[in-house]
Amino acid sequence: RRLRSLFNNSLTWSFFFNRRFSSQPARLDGKIALITGAASGIGKATAEKFISNGAKVVIADIKEKLGQDTAKQLGPNATFIHCDVTKESNISDAVDFTISLHKKLDIMYNNAGIACNTPPSISDLDLAVFDKVMNVNVRGVLAGVKHASRVMIPQRSGSILCTASVTGLMGGLAQHTYSVSKVAVIGIVKSLASELCRYGIRVNCISPFPIPTPFVIEEMVQLFPRVEEAKLEKMIFDLSALEGTVCETNDIANAALFLASDDAKYVSGHNLVVDGAFTCFKSLNF
Ligand code: NAD
Repeated sequence: RRLRSLFNNSLTWSFFFNRRFSSQPARLDGKIALITGAASGIGKATAEKFISNGAKVVIADIKEKLGQDTAKQLGPNATFIHCDVTKESNISDAVDFTISLHKKLDIMYNNAGIACNTPPSISDLDLAVFDKVMNVNVRGVLAGVKHASRVMIPQRSGSILCTASVTGLMGGLAQHTYSVSKVAVIGIVKSLASELCRYGIRVNCISPFPIPTPFVIEEMVQLFPRVEEAKLEKMIFDLSALEGTVCETNDIANAALFLASDDAKYVSGHNLVVDGAFTCFKSLNF
C-alpha cells in the first residue's frame, strides 16, 4: 500500500519525470564561459555550477598547479589556461584561447581578486600595496571586460559578470584599499552596462558576504595572528545576520548562474548583493 501511495503522489512523478525524461534544457546548455580566478573559492564553485548546467568552462588563474588540478577535478568540460589578470596580454590570450577552442564566448566572469594583507591602520599603509590591489581587482576586471567585449560585440550577445563585495558598499576595518577596489568594480559594471547594451551584451556584478576562502583566511591571519584557522572560519560564519544559515561559495555560484543565464535576459547594470540582509541589518540595527 505504501508503494501505491508513493506512485499516486504527483510530487514523486514530477521528480521521476524531471530527473529521467525532462526535455527541459539545462540553464546554460551549449554556453561557453571563461572564469578568472577559478582555481579555488567562488570561481571554482561557479565553474562547477556552470558545467553541471550544461556549459563548457575555461578556467583562467595565476596558480598553474592548482588551476590544472581544478580543471582535472571538474572533468572534460573544464580547461585550464594560465592567466595573470594584471597582464593585459594574458587576458587577451585567454579570450583568444577560448575562441580557438570553442568558437565563441557567451559568459565572461571577471572574478580574480586579492586583498593583500592591508594593515588595520591607514598610517601603516604602503601605497605600493594599494597599487597591487588595484592592478588585480580593478585594472584586471576592466581589461577582462575590454577583451570579452572585443569578441562579444561582433556576436551581438554575451553576459559579463564581475565579483564586487559588500565591503564596496559599507567599508570595514582594514578595508581601505580593498573596498575602494570593489566600489570601482561596481562603477565599471554600471558604466559598461550602459555602453554595451546596444550590442545585446549584459554586464552585472555580485557582492558576496565574507566566506572563508583562502585569501580571506590569509587576511584574517594577518589581523588576528594568534587565533587558529578553525576559529577564524567560525568568526566569519558568526557574522551572518540570516538566522540558521551561513554564506557559502555555492550561494555565489547560484547568483552567477542566474545572471549568466537567459533567466536574467533583461537584467543588466545590476549589483546582486548576496549577504543574507547583512548590509540592511547593520545599517538599520537600532
Ligand atoms: P580565492 O582566494 O579562493 O580565489 C581567488 C582566485 O584568484 C585564486 O585562485 C587566485 O589564484 C586567483 N588570482 C589572484 N590573483 C590573480 C591574478 N593576478 N590573475 C589571475 N588569477 C588571480 O578567493 P575567493 O573568495 O574565491 O575570491 C574570488 C573573488 O571574490 C575575488 O574577487 C574576491 O575579492 C571576491 N570576494 C570574496 C569574498 C569572500 O569573502 N571570499 C567576499 C566578497 C568578494
